[in-house]
Amino acid sequence: MMDPFYAFALFRRRGVIPAPDLEACSHYSQEDCQYQQALEPLNNRNCIHFLHQQMSRLFYQINVCMQKMIWENMCLSPENFNEAEKLLNVTFLGTAGSLPTPERNPSAILINREGEMMLFDCAEGTQRQMMRARTGMMRLNYIFLTHLHADHILGIPGLLETLAFQGRRSPITVVGPIHTMNLMESFKSVCYFSRNFDVQAIELAPGDVLKMKGFQVRAISTHHSVPSLGYSLEEDARLGRFNRDAATSLGIPPGPLFGKLQHGQEIEIDGKKIEPHQVMGPARPGRKIVYTGDTRPCKSVELASSGADLLIHDCALANDMADWAKETKHSTAAEAALVAKNADVGQLVLTHISSRYSEDTSLLLREAKSIFERTIVAEDLMSLEIYLKDE
Ligand SMILES: [Zn+2]
Ligand SMILES: [Zn+2]
Repeated sequence: MMDPFYAFALFRRRGVIPAPDLEACSHYSQEDCQYQQALEPLNNRNCIHFLHQQMSRLFYQINVCMQKMIWENMCLSPENFNEAEKLLNVTFLGTAGSLPTPERNPSAILINREGEMMLFDCAEGTQRQMMRARTGMMRLNYIFLTHLHADHILGIPGLLETLAFQGRRSPITVVGPIHTMNLMESFKSVCYFSRNFDVQAIELAPGDVLKMKGFQVRAISTHHSVPSLGYSLEEDARLGRFNRDAATSLGIPPGPLFGKLQHGQEIEIDGKKIEPHQVMGPARPGRKIVYTGDTRPCKSVELASSGADLLIHDCALANDMADWAKETKHSTAAEAALVAKNADVGQLVLTHISSRYSEDTSLLLREAKSIFERTIVAEDLMSLEIYLKDE
C-alpha cells in the first residue's frame, strides 16, 4: 500500500515533473478508486490506485503521471515497485547543543521508515517542532534516548501530554540506557498525567538489538559524561533484483508467477520446475543510519558506522575548543569527520551545535570538510531522504 505523501516524495525524487494529462489514465474511476487499494493488476502490469474522491487534484495528477511512468518503464518496472515505496526519511527537529537558541531547538531527530516513526532523543519543545515540520505524531511508536541529560529528555512529558490530548490509545515505548525505567516512572508521577495509553520503558546495553519489521535498531557504545548509547538503524537485506529477461526466456508469463519467484517460491511451468535463483540476482544490503548522541569520537561508533548511508554525529565545537570538547565529552567537527572518513559513510551530518555557532556554522563545516567532503551541518526542520542503493 502506498501512502500518497510517500508517492509525492518518490515523485520528487525521480525528478519527473507532473504533466496533468488527465485523459491519459483510462483506468481511473472516481467511484472505484480507494485510498487503501494501492496496487491492482492490469494487463499484466501493476497500476497504482491510491486516490479517492476526497483527494486533491494535485494527487490525482500525480497518480496519472506515476501510472504513465510505470507503463512506459520510465523509471520503474512494476515488479520493483514495492521497493520504491520503501522511503526512509530523517527530520532534524532539534540541532542545538545543550542550550536552545533562536535558530535551534535542542536534540531530537525523527526517522520515518515506511510510516514507522521513531524519535531519537526528545528535547523540550519536540512536539512543537514536529508540528512545525508537519511530521504528524500519531504514528510515533518509539522514543530512543541516547542518554538522560536534560537537553535530550525534557520533551517527553509534553509530547506524551499532547498525544493524550489527541486521543492516542496505542502504547508507546521509550528505549534508552540504564536508568531509563526510573526516569519514565518519575515522569509518570508528575503533572497529573491522564493518559489512555501505556508507556513502556526498555533499557538497552551496547550490542543489544531491537528487532522491528524489516529492520533493527542496534545500541552502540559511546563515550559521554553519563551512561550513554548511540543507535544504528539497519534495514534487513533486500531481495535480489528480478531479471525480467531471464524470466521471459524461461517461458514465464508476466503476472503472479513473477511475484511468487520474487518471494522465494518455486514455480512450475509445463512440468518444468523453476527456482527463484534462476531469475533473481544476489541479495542487496538495506540502508543504515547511525546516530551517536553526545559523545567523544570513539572506535565503537566507527565500527558500527562502517558503510552506513548516514552518520549523524555530535559536533559541539570547533578545533579551537578541542580541549573543552574533551573535558565535556563532546566532539569537534574534525573529530566527527575523521570517524566518518574511517567508516567510509555515505554522508556525515553534524548536529548538537554549540550556541557559539548557532547562526554561523561555516567554521564547523570548513573544518569537517577538510577531512571528509560529504559533510553537512544539520539545521532545524531539515529533512533528508535516504535512497536505496540499486547495486
Ligand atoms: Zn546534549
Ligand atoms: Zn549530554
